[in-house]
Amino acid sequence: MKLETRAIHAGRVTGAGGAVTPDITLSTTFARAADGSYPDGFTYARAGNPNRQALERCLADLEGGVACAAFSSGSAATYAVLQALAPGDHVIAPDDVYHGTRMQLRELFVRWGLQLSFVNVTSTDALRDALTPATRLVWVETPSNPLLKITDIARTARIVHDAGAQLVVDSTFATPVLQQPLALGADLVLHSTTKYLGGHSDVLGGAVIAAREDGLWPRIRLFQTQGGAVPSPFDCWLLQRSIATLPLRVRAQSESAQRIAEYLATHPRISAVHYPGLPTHPGHALARTQMSASGAMLSLQVRGGRDAAINAAARVRLFTRATSLGGVESLIEHRASVEGPHTTTPDDLLRISVGLEHADDLIADLAQALGGQ
Ligand code: PLP
Repeated sequence: MKLETRAIHAGRVTGAGGAVTPDITLSTTFARAADGSYPDGFTYARAGNPNRQALERCLADLEGGVACAAFSSGSAATYAVLQALAPGDHVIAPDDVYHGTRMQLRELFVRWGLQLSFVNVTSTDALRDALTPATRLVWVETPSNPLLKITDIARTARIVHDAGAQLVVDSTFATPVLQQPLALGADLVLHSTTKYLGGHSDVLGGAVIAAREDGLWPRIRLFQTQGGAVPSPFDCWLLQRSIATLPLRVRAQSESAQRIAEYLATHPRISAVHYPGLPTHPGHALARTQMSASGAMLSLQVRGGRDAAINAAARVRLFTRATSLGGVESLIEHRASVEGPHTTTPDDLLRISVGLEHADDLIADLAQALGGQ
């Protein structure tokens, strides 16, 4: 079946009394039969719950994986993957990895004994040079946050596997609609479901989907159920409701983003637009083979530096100045000031999350915000 159909039906269970939509099961504990067995397999809500099971089945299906573990945030999902490693293991991560992932690696996992290399993983040579006999995991984020760099998943998977390591792809920006990392050879896919999967800026969550139930997977599952950073039944229900419209939302948002990027690329006050749908983007050709559209995130650099960028963001009327992404409402943010003192993001960069408003209105808003400088 096609993705649009699976987004609605995969994992779905109908509610009691003929209800078309699923029930929300709030119970934290589940009754045993007289013989001590658990008739539906549920024991206690930290270990599993009908809403979480439905969400996990849906996400595993959409990513073409065999199993999924849902978490209370994307960061908790990241934490579970890293926690599945052992002290002394070496991890390679992108030099422009999402700043929260960088923080976890540097501030939490170095103390715990992980060895780290931050490299430009879009370069095969840089990746090969960074591999050591202790490398267990290579982390890729494609498109990356906030520079929208594109990494070749299939080629990276081959190099990583030859070295005896595993590849995880943070596919939050692409979603299963635009990119299928497991089919390209990745071992694990990670999502901040807070973003496009939730789609309405009202639920925090994360997920890891596995190509096989080997390698790091058993420990990730153990960390989920014993570590306990699980999403609530209502959060799972909200996510499943939103995933039903994911393909339509993401495609419409991508089309608008393409138009906005093309408009900004010709604007005299913009020095650079980072969007893989533009032929000038270094990852354009690769994105065309690896993704079915270029996504709805883009970054722009404003001529005149930090103040000019902040002033442009100050003048928007339709965009909301806020962090995060993937919702129906368009957001704009001065990224370096969100990332803090260790940021590597250019000071004149604004990141845009394109929502579901009409592209004409969004372009008009950007035109008036940039035009007045
Ligand atoms: N991965 C990426 C690419 C992100 O952008 C984010 C959050 O912005 C995360 C992971 C972390 O997700 P969460 O905020 O749900 O913890």
